[in-house]
Parts: sequence; structure tokens; C-alpha cells
Amino acid sequence: MRTKISKESSLNTHIVSILFLIFFLLLSISPEKKNNQLAIPKNVILLIGDGMSYSQITATEYFHGSLNMTSMPYHGTISTHSLNRRVTDSAAAATAIATSHKTRNGMVAILPDGTHLQTIAQYALEMGKSTALLASSHITHATPAAFAVHHKKRGEYFNIAELFVNSDINMILGAGSDYFLPESDGGKRKDGKNLITEMKEQGYFYINIDKNIEQISEHEKVIAFIEPMNLKPYPERADQMIRLTNSALLRLSQNPEGFFFMIEGSQIDWAGHDRNADWMIQEMIDFDNVIGSVLEFAEKDGNTLVVVTSDHETGGLTLPAGRFGNSDEFRYKFSTRRHTAQQVPLFSYGPSAELFTGSFDNTDIARKLFSLWGKQIEEPDSIGMELHQSIKK
Ligand code: MG
Ligand code: ZN
Repeated sequence: MRTKISKESSLNTHIVSILFLIFFLLLSISPEKKNNQLAIPKNVILLIGDGMSYSQITATEYFHGSLNMTSMPYHGTISTHSLNRRVTDSAAAATAIATSHKTRNGMVAILPDGTHLQTIAQYALEMGKSTALLASSHITHATPAAFAVHHKKRGEYFNIAELFVNSDINMILGAGSDYFLPESDGGKRKDGKNLITEMKEQGYFYINIDKNIEQISEHEKVIAFIEPMNLKPYPERADQMIRLTNSALLRLSQNPEGFFFMIEGSQIDWAGHDRNADWMIQEMIDFDNVIGSVLEFAEKDGNTLVVVTSDHETGGLTLPAGRFGNSDEFRYKFSTRRHTAQQVPLFSYGPSAELFTGSFDNTDIARKLFSLWGKQIEEPDSIGMELHQSIKK
């Protein structure tokens, strides 16, 4: 009997010490805590569904089933107006999301007076973090460009490509070699400049075919242009977005300082402009699959904040009717071929994800991210704020 008791008590001691060990291990791997117990994420992955709002999400869930994004634990709603328009374009919206400043439609990370706005990606570089941008449109398109360069006219893609050369972004992923290569090398540049050669001289590794996507993880600085202009529409492009994402994450996660990664589902917007619900839903499914992959990474990593949001709604999509049991009877209607002023959702997961709840402005996204990483930015500039106040009245 005694032996048994002593065995049990030594077993109990073991269990207690193992529990303590687990407790301290958990403490040591939990994200760094600063003022007011805020958890500071080492990594941030920001996913932007261009042209995605509640109707796009609702339609996709009714046709396809529940989405990864709506399973994320925190949810906010954001206003999207630009400095000069109730209805934003992607350039002004991406500027707000990337820099926390309102600007005029068409402008890329720059104020109307020419002031360059530091982007969260540029700030991450300053902190020693790695940075990556991935889009299913060409990389010089407004949304990804607003994280890397400063330019007054979003449509000047050849100029924007030149600005990418010195952007220092570690991973430039997706498509768009046409704007980087001269006509003599199969591109569309008429000035004879080969920006890819210039970037290789700066240490970038260049990938231009699908089968080499996985080589991204072998290089610290990479350009991967799988198509000369845009990635093919989903499902034609198959799992390219997921493969690009995963290969980039393999490398990015090796930086002990962490990383910032922006991923854009660019073509949800184009399907909306086209009033093409089938295409829109396919693009939504692909975007959400990428989110699933990112959430899997973030769950394992434990130190990654994932923010999923949108720049604006496209198409004025409404869902006026639909009987249960017959998806063919599900009705949708686009009210415009353009963007709308509708508010858009935000979903978040990971350290300090709870900061991204409630109703706020698109400029608040970057303000919260900058603040988590130690840089305080003032409230929105006066004109944007006035516009916001006039809406709230
Ligand atoms: Mg876009
Ligand atoms: Zn658009």
C-alpha cells in the first residue's frame, strides 16, 4: 500500500511539474505583451478582396458553402470614401489601407500636394521585417502599388514599374512582366529599359513560369511574374495564388524580425465591373481558399495577425430573392458597372485581432497596424474626417 501511495504521489508531482513546464512554455511562445497587455504580432498578413462587400460574401456562401473568412473570430465594418469622393477607387482606398491617409481618387500613396505617405510595408522594411506583395492583377495595378510606391496617376503603369525597382519590397509576386520588359525582350516598354535586369543586379531572383513557383522560398528577394499581364481568371489559374502564398510564407517566416505580406484578390472587382456573378463567385472562392491557407499558417505560427478586408464594393450587387433548396432560383442584381459607397467588412485573427472590431474608417486599419508596431499616427486629415462626420450626421 505504502509503495503504491508513494508511487501515486510521485506521479502527481510529475504531472504538476509537467503542467508547470507546459504553462511556462506557453508563456514563452505567446506574443510579446506591451502596454495594456496588447499582444504585438510579429507578422501581419493583410488580405484585400478588391470589390468585395457583404453581398459578394453572401452570394458566395449561398452558392458555395461557408467561407473561411466568415469563420474568423473578429469582425468590423469599415467606411471607404476617399478624400474627394463618397465612392472611392482602388488607388485612394489602397492608400488609406496602406498609409492611414485619405487621398484623391487615382492617387497612389501620395497626397494631392505631392507628399509621399509612408506605407505599412515600407515601415515594416524600416523595422527589419521582410515584405511581400501578391496580386492576381499585374503588380503595378493600384492596390498592390499603393503599398510599395508613390505616384499621382494610377494608370501610368510603366512609370509605376520603374518605381518598383527601388522599392526594396522583398517579394513581388503574381504577374505583370509586360510593364518591366522592353518590347525587344517580349514586354511592352517602349523606352527600351529592362527593369528585370536592373532588379536582378540588385539581388532579385526572377521567376516567370508556373513550374518554378516553389523556388520563391529559396530566395530573399524575388520577382515572380507567372503571366505577362494578369493571372488568368479563376479557376483557369488553378492553385497558383495558394502556391505563391505558401512558397512566400516558407521564406518570410525565416526572418526573426517578422514580415508584412499583402495579398490581393484583384479580380473580384473586375467580375463586378463585368456584372458577371459566376466569375465573381469563382474569384471569391479562390480568395477564400488563400485565406484558408493563411489561417493555417497563422494558427501554427501563433505570432501572426491576419486581417481580411476590402477596398470598396463593386457592381452594387443585391440579392433580392431565392428559395431554399434550389440554387438556380437564387436571384442577384447588379445596379451599376462601377464601384459603390457601401461599407465593407473586415475579419481578423491572431494577436490583437480584437482591435479590429466595431465600425471604423479604412484609414484606421493602417493606424492600428502602425500603432501595434510602435508608430503613432494622428487622426484622419481634416477633409477626410469632415466628410466622414457629414456622413454620420
Ligand atoms: Mg485592386
Ligand atoms: Zn474597380
